[in-house]
Amino acid sequence: MIQQTPVMRKCISCGKTYDRRHLLKITKDHKQGILFQKGMGRSAYICKSKLCYSDSKIKKKLQKALKTFLEPEFIDIFEKEIASYDDYSN
Ligand SMILES: [Zn+2]
Repeated sequence: MIQQTPVMRKCISCGKTYDRRHLLKITKDHKQGILFQKGMGRSAYICKSKLCYSDSKIKKKLQKALKTFLEPEFIDIFEKEIASYDDYSN
């Protein structure tokens, strides 16, 4: 029997819990720095929704969740990355 229980994770922006597959995972990898959808280390999850990732406090929330300093350029990279995953076009 195949277990189909979804792995639930909390969005750091809206605070709602969703199936992990619907969220973007941001990981502070020990060796490679900040990675999306992969890597080993402290992770944060966020909805692939403009409402969540365009939050003006998102950088602060991410820094707090990942316990790291994020370069100002990070937000540009992050927005491009998450927009490319956007599967909620409405
Ligand atoms: Zn959210």
